[in-house]
Amino acid sequence: MFVEPNLGSKNKGPLQNTGWVEVITGAMFSGKTEELIRRLNRAIIARQKVEIFKPVIDKRYHDAYVVSHNETQIRSTPVNFSQDILLLAGNSDVVGIDEAQFFDHHLTEVVTKLADQGKRLIIAGLDMDYLGKPFGPMPALMAIAEFVTKVHPICIRCGAIAVYSHRLTKDKDTVVVGEKDVYEPLCRTCYNDSEKHSK
Ligand code: ZN
Repeated sequence: MFVEPNLGSKNKGPLQNTGWVEVITGAMFSGKTEELIRRLNRAIIARQKVEIFKPVIDKRYHDAYVVSHNETQIRSTPVNFSQDILLLAGNSDVVGIDEAQFFDHHLTEVVTKLADQGKRLIIAGLDMDYLGKPFGPMPALMAIAEFVTKVHPICIRCGAIAVYSHRLTKDKDTVVVGEKDVYEPLCRTCYNDSEKHSK
Protein backbone atom coordinates (compact mmCIF):
# COMPACT_ATOMS: atom_id res chain seq x y z
CA MET A 1 0.00 0.00 0.00
CA PHE A 2 1.17 3.51 -0.78
CA VAL A 3 2.32 5.51 2.25
CA GLU A 4 2.79 9.27 1.88
CA PRO A 5 6.43 10.45 2.05
CA ASN A 6 5.23 13.60 3.80
CA LEU A 7 1.84 14.70 5.13
CA GLY A 8 1.49 18.10 6.71
CA SER A 9 3.97 20.96 6.99
CA LYS A 10 5.16 19.94 10.47
CA ASN A 11 6.38 16.55 9.30
CA LYS A 12 10.03 16.21 8.39
CA GLY A 13 9.53 13.83 5.49
CA PRO A 14 12.04 13.13 2.72
CA LEU A 15 10.12 15.46 0.36
CA GLN A 16 9.60 18.36 2.74
CA ASN A 17 9.03 21.78 1.14
CA THR A 18 8.68 20.33 -2.32
CA GLY A 19 5.83 19.14 -4.44
CA TRP A 20 5.67 15.78 -6.17
CA VAL A 21 3.58 13.73 -8.56
CA GLU A 22 1.80 10.42 -7.87
CA VAL A 23 0.09 8.39 -10.60
CA ILE A 24 -2.44 5.63 -9.89
CA THR A 25 -3.15 3.65 -13.04
CA GLY A 26 -4.48 0.35 -14.36
CA ALA A 27 -7.42 -1.18 -16.26
CA MET A 28 -11.09 -0.47 -15.56
CA PHE A 29 -12.49 -1.88 -12.29
CA SER A 30 -8.98 -1.94 -10.77
CA GLY A 31 -9.88 0.39 -7.88
CA LYS A 32 -7.97 3.46 -9.15
CA THR A 33 -10.61 5.92 -8.01
CA GLU A 34 -11.01 4.24 -4.60
CA GLU A 35 -7.24 4.57 -4.12
CA LEU A 36 -7.36 8.24 -5.22
CA ILE A 37 -10.18 8.93 -2.74
CA ARG A 38 -8.32 7.07 0.04
CA ARG A 39 -5.21 9.24 -0.43
CA LEU A 40 -7.23 12.47 -0.69
CA ASN A 41 -9.20 11.67 2.46
CA ARG A 42 -5.95 11.12 4.39
CA ALA A 43 -4.72 14.55 3.23
CA ILE A 44 -8.04 16.10 4.36
CA ILE A 45 -7.65 14.45 7.79
CA ALA A 46 -4.14 16.01 7.94
CA ARG A 47 -5.91 19.39 7.45
CA GLN A 48 -4.44 20.05 4.04
CA LYS A 49 -6.26 22.06 1.40
CA VAL A 50 -7.42 19.63 -1.27
CA GLU A 51 -8.82 20.40 -4.75
CA ILE A 52 -10.07 17.70 -7.09
CA PHE A 53 -10.61 17.95 -10.84
CA LYS A 54 -12.00 15.71 -13.54
CA PRO A 55 -12.66 16.18 -17.26
CA VAL A 56 -16.17 17.31 -18.21
CA ILE A 57 -16.51 14.22 -20.38
CA ASP A 58 -17.02 11.87 -17.42
CA LYS A 59 -20.73 12.34 -16.79
CA ARG A 60 -21.55 8.84 -15.67
CA TYR A 61 -22.54 9.80 -12.14
CA HIS A 62 -23.12 13.03 -10.28
CA ASP A 63 -21.47 15.96 -12.10
CA ALA A 64 -19.60 17.53 -9.21
CA TYR A 65 -18.31 14.37 -7.56
CA VAL A 66 -15.54 11.88 -8.20
CA VAL A 67 -17.39 8.62 -7.64
CA SER A 68 -15.81 5.18 -7.73
CA HIS A 69 -17.57 2.00 -8.85
CA ASN A 70 -18.11 1.06 -5.21
CA GLU A 71 -19.81 4.45 -4.75
CA THR A 72 -17.42 6.20 -2.39
CA GLN A 73 -17.39 9.84 -3.47
CA ILE A 74 -15.67 13.17 -2.95
CA ARG A 75 -16.51 16.66 -4.26
CA SER A 76 -14.74 17.66 -7.47
CA THR A 77 -14.69 20.38 -10.11
CA PRO A 78 -15.36 19.32 -13.72
CA VAL A 79 -13.09 21.22 -16.16
CA ASN A 80 -12.86 21.33 -19.98
CA PHE A 81 -9.12 21.82 -20.45
CA SER A 82 -6.06 20.89 -18.43
CA GLN A 83 -5.02 24.59 -18.33
CA ASP A 84 -8.16 25.31 -16.28
CA ILE A 85 -6.59 23.31 -13.44
CA LEU A 86 -3.69 25.84 -13.24
CA LEU A 87 -6.16 28.67 -12.73
CA LEU A 88 -8.38 26.82 -10.26
CA ALA A 89 -5.80 25.00 -8.11
CA GLY A 90 -5.31 28.23 -6.11
CA ASN A 91 -3.51 27.82 -2.80
CA SER A 92 -4.31 24.11 -2.39
CA ASP A 93 -1.70 21.78 -0.90
CA VAL A 94 -2.94 18.70 -2.73
CA VAL A 95 -4.45 18.47 -6.22
CA GLY A 96 -6.34 15.30 -7.23
CA ILE A 97 -7.14 14.55 -10.87
CA ASP A 98 -9.44 11.68 -11.87
CA GLU A 99 -9.99 10.15 -15.34
CA ALA A 100 -6.78 11.88 -16.43
CA GLN A 101 -6.62 9.81 -19.65
CA PHE A 102 -9.38 12.00 -21.12
CA PHE A 103 -7.42 15.25 -20.69
CA ASP A 104 -5.38 16.92 -23.44
CA HIS A 105 -1.58 16.49 -23.64
CA HIS A 106 -0.95 19.84 -21.90
CA LEU A 107 -1.80 18.06 -18.64
CA THR A 108 1.87 17.03 -18.25
CA GLU A 109 3.04 20.69 -18.27
CA VAL A 110 0.21 21.70 -15.93
CA VAL A 111 1.08 18.95 -13.45
CA THR A 112 4.81 19.83 -13.60
CA LYS A 113 4.08 23.52 -12.92
CA LEU A 114 1.88 22.73 -9.93
CA ALA A 115 4.40 20.27 -8.45
CA ASP A 116 7.14 22.90 -8.97
CA GLN A 117 5.00 25.30 -6.89
CA GLY A 118 5.21 22.81 -4.01
CA LYS A 119 1.90 21.01 -4.48
CA ARG A 120 1.32 17.28 -4.19
CA LEU A 121 -0.40 15.94 -7.33
CA ILE A 122 -2.36 12.68 -7.24
CA ILE A 123 -3.50 11.54 -10.67
CA ALA A 124 -5.74 8.57 -11.48
CA GLY A 125 -6.38 7.32 -15.00
CA LEU A 126 -6.54 4.37 -17.37
CA ASP A 127 -3.15 3.22 -18.65
CA MET A 128 -4.57 1.69 -21.87
CA ASP A 129 -7.65 2.18 -24.03
CA TYR A 130 -9.89 -0.76 -25.05
CA LEU A 131 -7.47 -1.62 -27.90
CA GLY A 132 -4.57 -1.98 -25.46
CA LYS A 133 -2.91 1.28 -26.62
CA PRO A 134 -1.40 3.78 -24.13
CA PHE A 135 -4.15 6.27 -23.30
CA GLY A 136 -3.85 10.07 -23.83
CA PRO A 137 -1.42 11.86 -21.49
CA MET A 138 -1.04 8.86 -19.13
CA PRO A 139 2.32 7.53 -20.50
CA ALA A 140 3.93 10.99 -20.15
CA LEU A 141 2.45 11.46 -16.67
CA MET A 142 3.85 8.10 -15.57
CA ALA A 143 7.26 9.19 -16.87
CA ILE A 144 7.38 12.46 -14.92
CA ALA A 145 5.87 11.08 -11.68
CA GLU A 146 7.92 10.40 -8.55
CA PHE A 147 5.55 7.55 -7.66
CA VAL A 148 3.58 5.25 -9.97
CA THR A 149 1.14 2.68 -8.59
CA LYS A 150 -0.34 0.09 -10.96
CA VAL A 151 -3.51 -1.50 -9.67
CA HIS A 152 -5.13 -4.57 -11.22
CA PRO A 153 -8.66 -5.95 -11.43
CA ILE A 154 -9.29 -9.70 -11.65
CA CYS A 155 -9.91 -11.33 -15.03
CA ILE A 156 -13.62 -12.23 -15.02
CA ARG A 157 -12.98 -15.28 -17.24
CA CYS A 158 -10.14 -17.04 -15.39
CA GLY A 159 -9.38 -15.23 -12.14
CA ALA A 160 -5.84 -14.15 -13.08
CA ILE A 161 -4.58 -10.57 -12.71
CA ALA A 162 -6.28 -8.50 -15.44
CA VAL A 163 -4.55 -5.77 -17.45
CA TYR A 164 -6.99 -5.06 -20.32
CA SER A 165 -10.32 -3.22 -20.41
CA HIS A 166 -12.07 -5.31 -23.07
CA ARG A 167 -15.02 -3.62 -24.75
CA LEU A 168 -18.13 -5.74 -25.19
CA THR A 169 -19.73 -3.48 -27.82
CA LYS A 170 -18.61 -2.89 -31.42
CA ASP A 171 -18.53 0.90 -30.87
CA LYS A 172 -15.29 2.30 -32.36
CA ASP A 173 -15.31 5.56 -30.40
CA THR A 174 -12.32 5.62 -27.98
CA VAL A 175 -14.35 7.53 -25.43
CA VAL A 176 -17.17 5.31 -24.23
CA VAL A 177 -17.34 6.11 -20.55
CA GLY A 178 -17.27 2.97 -18.50
CA GLU A 179 -20.07 0.88 -17.18
CA LYS A 180 -20.05 -2.74 -16.17
CA ASP A 181 -22.12 -3.84 -19.19
CA VAL A 182 -19.74 -2.18 -21.70
CA TYR A 183 -16.32 -3.36 -20.48
CA GLU A 184 -14.86 -6.44 -18.82
CA PRO A 185 -11.43 -6.79 -17.21
CA LEU A 186 -9.35 -9.49 -18.92
CA CYS A 187 -5.88 -10.95 -18.41
CA ARG A 188 -3.40 -11.05 -21.30
CA THR A 189 -4.31 -14.63 -22.29
CA CYS A 190 -8.09 -14.17 -22.22
CA TYR A 191 -7.83 -10.82 -24.03
CA ASN A 192 -5.77 -12.35 -26.85
CA ASP A 193 -8.23 -15.28 -27.08
CA SER A 194 -11.21 -12.96 -27.37
CA GLU A 195 -9.46 -10.82 -30.00
CA LYS A 196 -8.70 -13.95 -32.06
CA HIS A 197 -12.36 -15.00 -31.98
CA SER A 198 -13.65 -11.53 -32.89
CA LYS A 199 -11.65 -11.47 -36.17
ZN1 ZN B 1 -8.05 -14.54 -17.92
